[in-house]
Amino acid sequence: MIIDELDRLVEKLDLERKVRLLTGATVWSTHAEPDIGLRAMVTSDGPVGVRGEGWDERSPSLTLPSATALAATWDDDLVRLLGGLLAAEARRKGVHVLLAPTLNLHRSPLGGRHFECYSEDPLLTGRIGAAYIRGVQAGGVAATAKHYVANDSETERLTLDARVDEQTLRELYLAPFEAAVEAGVWAVMSAYNGVNGTTMSENPLLADPLKAAWGFDGVVVSDWGGVRSTGPAARAAQDLAMPGPQGSWGEALVAAVRAGDVPEAAIDDKVRRLLRLASKVGALDPGDPRDPGLPADGPAFPALAGREDHGPVLVEREDHDLAPAEQGDHGPAPAERRDHGLARAEWEDHGPVPAERGDHGPVLALLRRAVAAGTVLLRNEGSLLPLDPSRLRRVAVLGPNAATARIQGGGSAGVYPVSVVSPLDGIRDALSGTAEVLHSPGVHLDDRPTPLGTDNARNPLTGEPGVLVRLLDAAGVEIHAEHRLTGRILEPARIDSAAAVEIRALLSPEADGLWDLAVAGWGHVFLEADGRVLVDEEVERDTDDPATVHLSPPYRRARLTMAAGRDVELVSRRRLDPGSGIASVLAADPPWRDDEVELAAAVELARTCDAVVVVVGTTEEIESEGVDRTHLDLPGRQDELVRAVAAANPATVVVVNSGGPVLLPWREEVPAVLLSWFPGQEAGNGLADVLFGHAEPGGRLPTTWADRALVSTVPADGTLAYAEGLDIGHRAWLRQPTPPAYWFGHGLGYTSWSYESLSAPPDAVPGEPFSVRVRLRNTGERAGREVVQVYLSRPETGVARPARWLAGYATVDAGPGEVVDVTVDIPARAFQHWSAGHRTWRAEEGAFTVLAGRSVADLPLRGTALLGPEAPRPELVGERSPMLLKAP
Ligand code: BGC
Repeated sequence: MIIDELDRLVEKLDLERKVRLLTGATVWSTHAEPDIGLRAMVTSDGPVGVRGEGWDERSPSLTLPSATALAATWDDDLVRLLGGLLAAEARRKGVHVLLAPTLNLHRSPLGGRHFECYSEDPLLTGRIGAAYIRGVQAGGVAATAKHYVANDSETERLTLDARVDEQTLRELYLAPFEAAVEAGVWAVMSAYNGVNGTTMSENPLLADPLKAAWGFDGVVVSDWGGVRSTGPAARAAQDLAMPGPQGSWGEALVAAVRAGDVPEAAIDDKVRRLLRLASKVGALDPGDPRDPGLPADGPAFPALAGREDHGPVLVEREDHDLAPAEQGDHGPAPAERRDHGLARAEWEDHGPVPAERGDHGPVLALLRRAVAAGTVLLRNEGSLLPLDPSRLRRVAVLGPNAATARIQGGGSAGVYPVSVVSPLDGIRDALSGTAEVLHSPGVHLDDRPTPLGTDNARNPLTGEPGVLVRLLDAAGVEIHAEHRLTGRILEPARIDSAAAVEIRALLSPEADGLWDLAVAGWGHVFLEADGRVLVDEEVERDTDDPATVHLSPPYRRARLTMAAGRDVELVSRRRLDPGSGIASVLAADPPWRDDEVELAAAVELARTCDAVVVVVGTTEEIESEGVDRTHLDLPGRQDELVRAVAAANPATVVVVNSGGPVLLPWREEVPAVLLSWFPGQEAGNGLADVLFGHAEPGGRLPTTWADRALVSTVPADGTLAYAEGLDIGHRAWLRQPTPPAYWFGHGLGYTSWSYESLSAPPDAVPGEPFSVRVRLRNTGERAGREVVQVYLSRPETGVARPARWLAGYATVDAGPGEVVDVTVDIPARAFQHWSAGHRTWRAEEGAFTVLAGRSVADLPLRGTALLGPEAPRPELVGERSPMLLKAP
C-alpha cells in the first residue's frame, strides 16, 4: 500500500480511535478497526516454533533447533528454509507476527537466554538472523527482531541500565539489528532494559539509528509490559504497547496529546506504521486472501494433515474448546494460501524421508537435517566417530538426558512439540534389528519434578490419559471443567468468576517407593493425595519478571510412598489471586535409585557394551529466561558419570545437551565429544544420523566454549557496565594468556581439509564489498562440507579494534581428494569502524591482514589487503544528521 493511501486511512480516524490501536486488544493480539478495513493481528512467540495465541498443549508446534544450534550451522540457506517452515506454521495457527528472532549477543556464557540468541559475534548473528527473517517474511508473516538493544543477560533485566560506549554499541550490539533492517524486517521489539540512562521503550536509539539512519519503516513493539510511561514512551519512537488491553497509553495518551505533551503527528506516525504492517501481513485490505487470520479450508501446510504418529489432529484455528478433528479430513490448502507458505517442492530435497512417516516426512526430514547440521563435533580421537553399525551388537545409551532430552530452552520461547524423538529413541530406531540398545540414566538430577502427562496420569472422570482441570468459584463450586494433556496448566479457560484452578488426576505409579510430588503456582497452593493433605501454603510473589511470574512459579514439594500399579488420586488447587500469574502445576517424579547404585549400573552397562553414548546436559532450572546462570558446571554428578563410563569403555561418545557452554573438565579423557545444543523435536534422529555417519556433524562453534566467564551479568546498583567494550567472546579470549577450551568457529567433520591458497585483489576500496577466494582440498576419504571463515586484523591501527574479527564465511562441499575454490564475500562494513568523534562509520586507510581457515585460532592462510583512502566527505556529516546535508 502506498504512503498516500495509508495517510488517508489515518485521517479517517479520530484521536481516540488512533490511540486505541496503539495498545494490544488482548495479551497477544492488536485491535481491529473495521471502518478502515483493519483486522486484528495476532502475535506469537517464537523463536523455535510458533506457539500460537496463548499456551495450550493441545495445539502443538513443529519445534526447530534453538538459536545456538541454528547459528552453529553457519548455513544461511538452511536457516532461511526453516524460516519458511515457521511462516507456514504461523499461517496454520492464524499468526501474523512472529516474535522472533532474538538478536542479542552472547556477551557472557552465563546469560540465561544464551540458547535463544545466536552467537557472540555480530556478523554471524546478523547473517543468521537475516536469513531467518527472510524465510519467515517470504511466507507473508512478520518477523520481529528482538530485544532492541543490549538485553544480553537476565539478572534485573526489567530495570538494568546497560552502560555501553558508542563504538561498542554500533559495532557489536546494534549491528545485528542493522542487518535485520537491511533484510527488511517488519517489526522490532524494544527491550525491557535501559541503555545509557534511558529505558529502551523511551530511548532515543529507537528514533536513531533505527528509524532515521537505517530507515526502518515497520513497527516498534514493546516487550511484554515494557511501556511504563505515557509521554516519554509515546514521544520516543515506540509504536505499539503490548500486551493489552490495559497499559500506560489509552486514555492517558489521548489526554497527553490534547495537553500538547505528545504531538498528534507522533501518534499518526505510529498508526501509519501499524497499518503498513497490517497491509504486509494481509490484515488491511478487506478479504485479503493472504491474511493468516482468515478462516481457510485446510491447513496452510498440507504436510501437517493426517499426523498418524502425532496424536489427534486439531482443527485448525486456536480455540480452547477444540475437539479433535477426524484425521485426514483436511483437503489440500487452497492455492492462494499455499502461495504464502512454502511450496511442497522446496522440501523434497531434504534427505531421506522414511516412508512410514507419511505426508509430513519432508518437514521432519528438514528438521532432522537441521539437527545434524548444527551438531558440533569438538573432539574425535582415533576417529571413533562415525560408529560403524555393522560392528555393534550391544550399545549403552546412558545419561540423564538420554531418554528425555532437553529439546528447547525455558521461558516465553517454549512451544509444545508435535512429537519428540529422544536420543535413546533415535539410536534404538537406527540400530533396530542389528544391535541391542540398553539404557541407564547413571545419575539423578535434582530438577523440579515433571508435570504429569499422558504417560502416567488419567483423568479421574473419563479415564482418558491426561488430567482433569476444573475452575471453581469462590464457594468452591465447579464453573468449568476440561480435559488436558499436561499437569502444567498455563491458561485454562478465562472465566471472570473463577476463584481457583484445580488439577485432578489418577497417577498410576510404575514403581514402588518414595515419589516426589509437587504443586507450583503463586498465591495459595494446595496438594492432596487420596484425601491426605501434603501441601497447604501461601506462596508470596517476590518478582515482577513476567517470565517468572507466569511461567516459572516456585514449586512446593512433598514425598509420598506409593505402590506400583495402585492408583493414587492427586488433587492440586491454586487460588487465582490478582497478579498471581497464569501457571498452575501438578507434578510427580518416580523414586530414583541411590546415586551409587545408579552410577554403578551405568558403568556396568558401559563395560559390557561395544560402544557407549552418554548424554549429559543442563536442566530447565539452570538455562531459562528470567535467570542467569551462576556457574557453568553440569548439574549433579554428571562429570563423575562421564569419567567413570569413559574409564570403563574406551569407545565412549559424550553428547552435551545444553543451550550454551558448560564446563567439560573431562574433555581430554574421552575420545569423542558432540554438542547437540537444544536440538528441537527431531533430536534423536539427527543425533543418530551423526553417530552412524549418515550425516556429517555440520556445526561450528558460534560462541567460545571456555572454562570460565570473563564478564559478569550482575548489575551494580542497577547498572551493568559493558566495560570490556569491543572484546567479548573470542575477541576477549584472544587477549587472555591461556586459550579457551574450544575456540569460536571450531568444529570437526568426518573428513579432513587442507587450506591451499588465498587470493584477493591487493587493494580494497572503502565502502565497497571485497571478496576473497580460498582454495582447499578434501584430504580425507569421505565427502564433506567445510565452513570457510575469513577474519581481518589490523596490526598497525590508530583506533580501538579487536585483535581479529570475523569478516565473512562461506560453505563448500567436496568429495574425497577434490580441490575446490570458494568465494567469501566480505562486506564493506568489515573494514570500517564506528568513529564516535565523527558519529559515522570510517575506514582507516592502510594494510589489513586477511586470514582464512577453520576457526578464529586455526587460520593457515594469510594475505594483505591495502585499503585505499576514503573519498573526501564534508566533515560533520554524520548519518545521524541528515539535515546537515542540506546546510551550506
Ligand atoms: C520476552 C519476549 C517475549 C514476550 C512475550 C517477554 O517476557 O522477553 O521475548 O516475546 O515476553 O511472551
